[in-house]
Amino acid sequence: MPLEQVLGVGVSIPGQVGPDGRASVFASNWNWRDVPLRDMLAERIPLPVHLDNPLRASTVAELWFGAARDRENVAVLTLGTGVGAGLAIRGTVYHGATNTAGEWGHTNLVIDGRQCRRGCVGCVEAYVGAPGIMHQLEEIAPDSPLLRPDDQTATINALAAALAAGDPVAEQVIAATGRYLGIAIANMVNLFNPQIIVLTGWVADSVGGHLIRHARATAERYALEEPWEGTEIALCAIDRNPVSLGAATLVMEGFLSAATTNGRR
Ligand SMILES: [Zn+2]
Repeated sequence: MPLEQVLGVGVSIPGQVGPDGRASVFASNWNWRDVPLRDMLAERIPLPVHLDNPLRASTVAELWFGAARDRENVAVLTLGTGVGAGLAIRGTVYHGATNTAGEWGHTNLVIDGRQCRRGCVGCVEAYVGAPGIMHQLEEIAPDSPLLRPDDQTATINALAAALAAGDPVAEQVIAATGRYLGIAIANMVNLFNPQIIVLTGWVADSVGGHLIRHARATAERYALEEPWEGTEIALCAIDRNPVSLGAATLVMEGFLSAATTNGRR
């Protein structure tokens, strides 16, 4: 494709991205703190560069192409190794004061509970992220052949296959995880009153159908009746990578908003 037909470049980076395009990444083998990534990319790419994290990229994808189309108030919950939320208010992604809104994964679920990757104790991520689910499996059946100690993807895939075969240990693990997820969803419903909550991320892709069943039953008990009745809960149905699609859509949004601003002048 000729360069003049490309509107820009969208990048999604796991971690926190400041309004100035500085990125901090909290993955174990990346030691990025306050890296001026947008400026570094802009120096080498002669096109507008749009940068944000996967929570917001997948929220934009759901708003444009997914289950949140035509919805105003939306929470997109990412379940993967990390856990977080992308929030949209009146159809627009909510960034917060310093672009860190949506750290729902690090809100507390269990006082003095398990520790997460980021070092906080008892947060949602430590119970419903992939390492949390592995921890749950280890507690329920320490010798389970489903547990692949150094491989999160293999363990979650083994759980998904075992669930399909009706395995009682896998069912117990997902029931326990679904309860934690249900409480965290109820907190989100009470606080934010969304029309729709979409579950996305690789853990949701693999075991989301089973998790959602247990989470719904628990959330219904813990959420207040009025906001709960107005909330739909759905799994991501975008058949491509929603984070990449969302990163590309950030470019579209940037182009349209620049065109609108120029038109007004
Ligand atoms: Zn945490």
